[in-house]
Formats: sequence, structure tokens, C-alpha cells
Amino acid sequence: MIRAGSMDRLVQQRQFQQRYRQGIGPHYHGYGHGICVLAIGLGIIGYCVWKLELTNCQPLLTVVAALIIANGLEYFAHRQLGHKRTRILPLFYERHSGEHHRFFTHLDPLWRDHRDWRVVLFPLYLIVAVATANGAVAWGLSLLFGPAVGYLWLMTTVAAYLWYEVAHFCWHLPEQSWVFRIGFLRRMRLRHLIHHHPSMMNRVNFNITWPLFDYLLGTDSLNSQMMNTKG
Ligand SMILES: [Zn+2]
Ligand SMILES: [Zn+2]
Repeated sequence: MIRAGSMDRLVQQRQFQQRYRQGIGPHYHGYGHGICVLAIGLGIIGYCVWKLELTNCQPLLTVVAALIIANGLEYFAHRQLGHKRTRILPLFYERHSGEHHRFFTHLDPLWRDHRDWRVVLFPLYLIVAVATANGAVAWGLSLLFGPAVGYLWLMTTVAAYLWYEVAHFCWHLPEQSWVFRIGFLRRMRLRHLIHHHPSMMNRVNFNITWPLFDYLLGTDSLNSQMMNTKG
């Protein structure tokens, strides 16, 4: 049973969803958005795999380092820029706390159709910006440690970005979806729904892809009791 306070919250969420949907341009197409993100990401990864020449296993340590650094950046960007208004990136805060968290709450975390993907996926230019920045880092690494390290850095960071987009997209699917037969994915989805509870969103579960920095910094929560309160 949904309590009166939650009912008010759900009404507010519905009103926000209605306003947001009315504001989406007529030319926006969620499938086009998703396909472009995947095409750019997979194209870059494919290019790196094609160019990669490994003569020993040592450069593979780059993959481990890139995954850990990407997880830390995901955590800090989400917590410090997505949940706090800053002068550097006020738009990020607006899109995340002001739109994504108002459009989806723990009471209703599901997108309705492909036009709702506008509030789930990052804008298209971000994958270009992330790939360009990591391309510059990769170029520096290749000068220092050889081309294999550079290609591995670029493909791993772009893969981490794509996994963020795909994973977050899935966390807003119904829990009956086949992907949640996999226990890790089911738990990550529950973590994200807890993060969407308005009283928890500034406190726990800032990792979306895998919860390394949440574990390290003590902000991991898998408290399903809180979800049962529906408060
Ligand atoms: Zn979300
Ligand atoms: Zn958030």
C-alpha cells in the first residue's frame, strides 16, 4: 500500500514527467540517440582493437588501471557535479538532480517509451568529449609507454562509458526483464533504485556500473528494507 506522503510524491513525479515530455522536441528519437552512442563507442573500440599489437602481457595492466580510474571518475562526477550545484558544470546538476531524479523516483523508476530515453542517456556530445579527452591521454601514454598502452587506455575508457549508458538504461527497466536473472545486475538495479529515493539520493550508491568506490568510501547501500517502506 502506498502511504499518503508517497502518493503526493507520485503525483508530483507524474506532473513533472508530463511537463518534461511536452518539452521534448518533435525530432527527438530515442532509438537514433542510442544507436549513435553505440556506433561511436563501438567504432572507437573496434579501431583500437584493430590497431592493437601486444608483444607481452604487461600493457594489459592499463585495462585494470583504466577501469579503476573510470570508476572513481564516475563516482566523483555523479556525487560532486550531479548532486551539488557547481560553477564549473551547473548544467550537469540541472540535468541530473533537476531532471533525471525528478522524472524517476523509487516509486516509479521505469521509462515509458523511446522518447523517455532523452532523460536516461547522456547527450550525444558527451561521448565525443569523453573519447576526445581520453584520446589525448592515450596519445600521451603511447609516447611514454608505447602504442599498445595508448590503445588499451582509449578502448577501456570508452567501453566503461558505454557500459555506464547500457547499465543505467537497464536499471530503469522492469525487474521482470530477463537481464535481471543475473544476480549482479539485479543487485545493481536495486542499488540504483535506492539511489532514486529522494531521501537517499545525496547519500548512497553513486556508482552506476559496479560499486567499487561506494565500497571504498562507505556509501554503498543495499538496504531493501528502505525500499519496502515506500516512503
Ligand atoms: Zn537513474
Ligand atoms: Zn544521482
